[in-house]
Amino acid sequence: MDRVLDPAQIEALASRAIPRLILPGRNAFIRRSARLETLAPGHSLEGYLRLAAAIGRAQAAAVEELRPTGPSPAAIETAHQHAMPPLPARGMHRDPAWRGVLRVMAADLARAAGFPAAVADVSHRLAAAADADLEALADRVLAASGTDADPAAALFVSAALAVLWVALASDLKVADVRLPSEPSATCPVCGMAAVASIVRSRAPYAGYRYLCCGLCASQWHRVRVECTQCGAAKPVAYHSIDGGAPAIRAETCDDCQGYRKIFYQEHDDLVEPLADDIASLTLDLMLTEAGFHRAGANPLYWQPRD
Ligand SMILES: [Zn+2]
Ligand SMILES: [Zn+2]
Repeated sequence: MDRVLDPAQIEALASRAIPRLILPGRNAFIRRSARLETLAPGHSLEGYLRLAAAIGRAQAAAVEELRPTGPSPAAIETAHQHAMPPLPARGMHRDPAWRGVLRVMAADLARAAGFPAAVADVSHRLAAAADADLEALADRVLAASGTDADPAAALFVSAALAVLWVALASDLKVADVRLPSEPSATCPVCGMAAVASIVRSRAPYAGYRYLCCGLCASQWHRVRVECTQCGAAKPVAYHSIDGGAPAIRAETCDDCQGYRKIFYQEHDDLVEPLADDIASLTLDLMLTEAGFHRAGANPLYWQPRD
């Protein structure tokens, strides 16, 4: 009897040939901001998508200028030996240049027209904040515990930190990063939780699924049709919005009750994990109502917490 292999089995068999890590380029923010701009017109979150696009443009400009001090070759080697992320979001000394990025970004957005007064307010507040306060805010944002952080301030701070991490990650070589032997939903470069996953459509990545980091924009391979959160091998279930874009689905897992979105480049070449995630918030509402909890927050979308 013929045995038909499912996509997960095929990927597992081929795993040695699969590029397992895709490091970002400094152009990561250009693609994202262009996508947000395209998604905005007529969207129920149009104003928010336009704000996120403006932040993306500011990030794109800032990352071109930034030449940060990263870990030493010896530190990278030590991280490699211990299979630790070379650019850990928590615990690494941060080049203070990120605060300069934040202040320039805040000044740009304070001047920008068409946003609510709250955007200018938070911009002025951040531009005037003491260095120690900004560092404390950065710690809370990276710990993802920002319970007392104002969502608008958290949005700006995480955007400035992403500029630093993308600049550092784009200077790494794939050989600098040791991937864990077990599949993981945390970024092998910076240790943050994956926001979503994407099935890519172009060689040498065509047909493979990658998890996407919201801080350093790295992507790492993960076999399809398994839960990215708990690793349950039994098939996940797929959900999409009725009449919505075929490039956007969410995988739910009955074992851990978690969900993560998955984007398909074969249906839309321009799909971008962070941008399309915000634009498909309806899917989050639907799944949350159904009792699933989201794995991996989007740093471009902070919500007020109680
Ligand atoms: Zn990362
Ligand atoms: Zn699971």
